[in-house]
This record gives sequence, C-alpha cells and structure tokens, in this order.
Amino acid sequence: KLVVFGSVNADHVVKVPSFPRPGETLHGSAYQVISGGKGANQAVAAARLGADIGFIACVGDDPFGQMTVKEFVKDGINVDAVLIEKAMPTGIAMIQVADTGENSICISAEANGQLNAERLRPYLGCIESAKYLLLQLETPMDGVELAVEKAHAAGVTIVLNPAPAKALSNALLKHISIITPNETEAELLTGVTVSDALSAQQASDVLFFKGVSVVMITLGAKGVWLSNQVGVGKMIAGFKVKACDTTAAGDTFNGALVTALIEGKSLEDAIVFANAAAAISVTRFGAQTSIPKRQEVDKFLDN
Ligand code: ADP
Repeated sequence: KLVVFGSVNADHVVKVPSFPRPGETLHGSAYQVISGGKGANQAVAAARLGADIGFIACVGDDPFGQMTVKEFVKDGINVDAVLIEKAMPTGIAMIQVADTGENSICISAEANGQLNAERLRPYLGCIESAKYLLLQLETPMDGVELAVEKAHAAGVTIVLNPAPAKALSNALLKHISIITPNETEAELLTGVTVSDALSAQQASDVLFFKGVSVVMITLGAKGVWLSNQVGVGKMIAGFKVKACDTTAAGDTFNGALVTALIEGKSLEDAIVFANAAAAISVTRFGAQTSIPKRQEVDKFLDN
C-alpha cells in the first residue's frame, strides 16, 4: 500500500493573456477555485489510477477543507490521517494560467504549515506499515525529515518529489530511493544546469554521490531522464499532446509513477505509464480537475 504525505491547497485560478509585471493590472477571466496542492494532487492521481492509498495532510476548518476531504473519499483515498486544523484556513495557491499553458503560482501554507514532526508523530504507524511513501516539500521540513527517517528505518521505499525547489541535506537524500526533480529543482539540488542528456546525467551523478538510488529528472514535454547508475542513463520520451494547462503535470506524473511501481512495473515501464497520465493532464484545465482515471490512461496507451 501507498502513503502520500503532503499539502492540500485551494487553487484560486484565473486565465491571463500574459503575466502582469510589477505594478501592472491586467484583466484575467474564468476565475475558478479548484482542488490542488502537491500532496493532494499526487494522492488523487494515485487513487484514480488504482493504488490503495492513505493520505497524511492538514486541511483548514473551512468549507473548502470539508469539501475537499469529501472529494478525497469519493476518489477512494483513506482520509483517517487527514487532520482538520481548528481556526485555520486551508492552504491556498494563487494561480495565473497564460494562453500558452504556462503558469505562475504563489502559495500560502496556512493549515499545511501545521503538518510538522509533532503533528505527524501519532500517524507514523501508517508510514511504517506502507510499502511506498511518496512526499514533496510543500509542508514543514521537520515533518518531512521525520517521515523519511521512520520510513527508511521500516524498510519502506521512499519516493521524493523535491518540489517546490529547496536545498536538501545529505542526511535526508541518502534515504531516498527515487527522486523526481524537474529541471529547476535538479539545478538547485546539484548546481548543474540541466539542458541536455550530458548535463542531466551530471546532475544525476551528483545525486548518486549524495546517496540517492534512482534519479528521474522530468523535462516537461520532452519526457524524463532516468538513471540508476553513475554515468549511465536514458531519455524516456514524453507523449505529444496539445498543452492547455500544465498545472499538476508533475504531480500526476509522481502519483502515476508510484502506482505503476507498486503494481510491479519496471522503472522504464512505470515512467511510460506516468508520462501518459501526465500528458493527458496537460490537455485539461486545473489541478485535480485534470487528473485522469485509470481507464483513460490505459486507452491512451493502447492507441
Ligand atoms: P513540473 O510540472 O513539476 O514542472 P514537468 O514540467 O517536467 O514537471 O512535467 C512533468 C511531466 O509531465 C513530464 O515529465 C511529462 O511526462 C509531462 N508533461 C509536462 N508537460 C508536458 C507537455 N507539454 N506535453 C506532454 N507531456 C508533458
């Protein structure tokens, strides 16, 4: 079984013709509040794709928090460890989506800021009894560190999506089985600017030196650089689709990846499956609104 540990956000989304500059006011359109947050998106992706999953998170004591937990249940997620923070709002993201499909995002942690080591402690049993732990960096670091330490001690396979970009200690990285940075995150973690196969492998090699076992650098539409050995890696191409909104592409990739790995797929096959799920998600607007169900991904891969 899979445990996802991470954030929940209410995404306040507007479409914009271009991103406003400092001091500029632009007319956006199509305002919507959509369920998001890296942790929640990854949990929802795994659940819709068929994984048996428990989610550890903090939501606020507000209508969005209550609504989103009901949605998690509908998606088949075990919410026993989704905690409700009294007198706090759920985390939020202010998102602008440009006509190109690119986005610009500002987040405020709110209830996610409460998911620290102390709050997590009573729920460590869920992590220790899991097969896989999937986590990101949108919640306090001491909680992430404790989750990783306990999971490692219990022999759980740990998949870290190191997003949003943040420097990480070698003490944390040495326990990570699979790391899934995008280009920006890979550069921040390694100091290597990732632009082609050679630089992707150089960045992977730095991560191996820090103790990570498998590196998957996501490269947007290009796909993923996979390496599990110093000096040796390969590109797994992405699928060609018409991008509408790339919000949650990386999250869909991560949720799908772990789902496929739990099913026993090889690293390469799991990446192909995850690339397909993520490609479908970029053709649709929003975070959790864009995450496909299993049947859709299987059909996409059959064509
Ligand atoms: P993030 O969203 O975290 O920045 P990426 O942009 O690297 O991550 O995207 C994650 C994955 O989503 C990619 O590895 C790829 O599988 C898929 N993806 C992203 N953008 C596109 C796109 N325009 N077309 C097809 N697949 C995409």
